[in-house]
Amino acid sequence: MKVSRIRCKSALSRSGLYDLDYSYNPYLGCYHGCRYCYSVSILSRELALDWGNFVFVKENVIEVLRREVLRKKRGVVGVSTASDPYQPVEKVHELTRKGIEVLRGSGFHVSIQTRSPLVLRDADLIKGPGFDLGVTITTLDEWVARKVEPKSPRPLERAKVLEEYSGKVDTWLFFGPIIPFLADGEDNVRAVVKLASKCGSHLLYDKLRVKKWIPMLLRPALERIEEGLYERVMDRVRDQKYWQGVFGTIEKACRDYGVRCEPSMPSYSRPKYKRL
Ligand code: SF4
Repeated sequence: MKVSRIRCKSALSRSGLYDLDYSYNPYLGCYHGCRYCYSVSILSRELALDWGNFVFVKENVIEVLRREVLRKKRGVVGVSTASDPYQPVEKVHELTRKGIEVLRGSGFHVSIQTRSPLVLRDADLIKGPGFDLGVTITTLDEWVARKVEPKSPRPLERAKVLEEYSGKVDTWLFFGPIIPFLADGEDNVRAVVKLASKCGSHLLYDKLRVKKWIPMLLRPALERIEEGLYERVMDRVRDQKYWQGVFGTIEKACRDYGVRCEPSMPSYSRPKYKRL
């Protein structure tokens, strides 16, 4: 793993996600290296190919954040939107924790999305109405998860995060990206929805979106599972009727388990929070 230090000019960048006002990304790059990660689409080809093997640490991000918090209009801050804020490098640098300390009580709403149990370390900070916490689960099948999200914490560890935060802050489960043949089966769908129900979490779901550079990472991962799987998955990705069926299955399961759910389209989104 290559860890390098860089300096940044801004800590709170305007977010293109419709329900966030700002993104706080203290790291560039993500150790978890998921083979479908949308963040690669904004990188150079060289960095995209190396996804999962590098992290840039923004060494001055806290001092920049302190300045920006004093002058920027209040709103919802996504922590973080281009990498997992609790990836292993956070254990050493604590830029997510320190960023939350700055934002907490400053009038900004903090919306955290992770898949790492390291977020439990910060339970002393993440509490009350100023926060919401989302956990990403693509599949509860560990074997499948290992193939497409090779260095992410195991699905059951993520489930534990939701359980632990349940009742302490608003929690949500992001079910996605849904990969045809691997995560779209009714058993997986119902298991994921049941978990959201158990934790009192809202559920957001989204289909696989094959953005720039993703085929370079996803094709080899899928071909290692089964020859020809990548092309079969791509056929499904383009099939609107297929998606209607998958979304119908999710919505029915949510009705059965009493889970509030919504598609994250038209853009990848988080629950709406009152603008501050
Ligand atoms: S954890 Fe999130 S940001 Fe990190 S590689 Fe996976 S999808 Fe991308």
